[in-house]
Amino acid sequence: MRLVVPRESRDGEHRVALMPDVIAKLVKQGISIEIESGAGTGANASDDAYKSQGALIFASSERSSALGRADVALSVQPLSPSDFASMKKGAITLSFLPGSASDSIEAAVKANVTAFSMELIPRISRAQSMDALTSQALCAGYRAALIGAELSPRFFPLLMTAAGTVTPAQVLVLGAGVAGLQAIATARRLGAVVSAYDVRPSSADEVKSMGATFIELELESLEGSGGYAREMSDERAAKQRELLKPFITKSNVVITTAAVPNRKAPLLVTKEMYGDMAPGSVIVDLASESGGNVEGSVAGETIATASGVRIWGGKDVPSQLPFHASSLYSKNLVNLLGLIVKSEEQDGKTTAAIHLDFDDEIIEASAVTHDGVKRK
Ligand code: NAD
Repeated sequence: MRLVVPRESRDGEHRVALMPDVIAKLVKQGISIEIESGAGTGANASDDAYKSQGALIFASSERSSALGRADVALSVQPLSPSDFASMKKGAITLSFLPGSASDSIEAAVKANVTAFSMELIPRISRAQSMDALTSQALCAGYRAALIGAELSPRFFPLLMTAAGTVTPAQVLVLGAGVAGLQAIATARRLGAVVSAYDVRPSSADEVKSMGATFIELELESLEGSGGYAREMSDERAAKQRELLKPFITKSNVVITTAAVPNRKAPLLVTKEMYGDMAPGSVIVDLASESGGNVEGSVAGETIATASGVRIWGGKDVPSQLPFHASSLYSKNLVNLLGLIVKSEEQDGKTTAAIHLDFDDEIIEASAVTHDGVKRK
């Protein structure tokens, strides 16, 4: 069985789907691994590091022939339609594959390739080790707190110095899911005083367990299915903004991470709200790419307002921590591969083969295309 890892081609994508440390385990299972030269460069994984673990390296000029012999191709971003067109019938791809990548999905259908979407791995306990949304949100949350600390002109911790006492920074985190909780933990480790709000009251205990204060608002809860939030009505959104405003204006750093599945990110912080923040305040908007939690935030840019507030719009945030984002993602993929690939030992030789069991909830939920059909 041959597993191929092409080099990521999207601008700003520094992650790689497979890191060298998991190669030896796969080779032992009877899988031969081929990596496009330079695929790991952005994540500090050199061609030599892959070779030393038993992988073969192919030149970029051989990309389509390498994909053509692949039984499985691993990537972070969806493969391009022309990549899919190079692949053989019955091959498998594992990658992020949002519904918006419709060209790639159509190309997978046409090529008769089974394309899995890491976004669709169900959030059940058996699939936790394959949950790439969680592993990457963890990286984004950590990064958000560091960006806040970096852009702020203030210390995060309380300091008692001979020259006087430095009061700790007040950090507010809006949205206490995976990224928000990691932002809280990181800001706390840096010594900030942290408070947080989420529309799911069940997040209160998690927030408190990290030493942060949970802000209770007199509003209905929006706990939806699968532990996710539900969308707010315009009226509730306006009321939430009004109630949150005093907490926002007194914060030195606001980190926003709110999301609702398959919806534009909710608007939590308006111009009018941050207009009243003190000069030097910082807002880190992790939802910038999906519409923004903060009015006027631009993904990939830091905007300075006339009143001296800086708004950082996140773009490819997990990719800004490429080593660990790749390490965790790579392990998520290897764990999913464990459900898809079966190894057998015969005459002292281990061989691997693909075995897709659509009765398995994880396979059923995450295979977007199979057998020339779009399933999801
Ligand atoms: P997400 O990225 O979809 O959303 C981030 C957070 O934004 C959520 O906590 C959500 O409640 C919050 N939010 C939405 N609208 C808001 C608003 N208007 N104001 C304030 N906050 C708002 O969520 P996520 O980080 O992927 O996690 C969602 C849930 O899934 C959590 O309960 C998490 O514990 C759970 N989860 C479970 C598993 C598992 O069981 N395997 C794995 C990961 C996450």
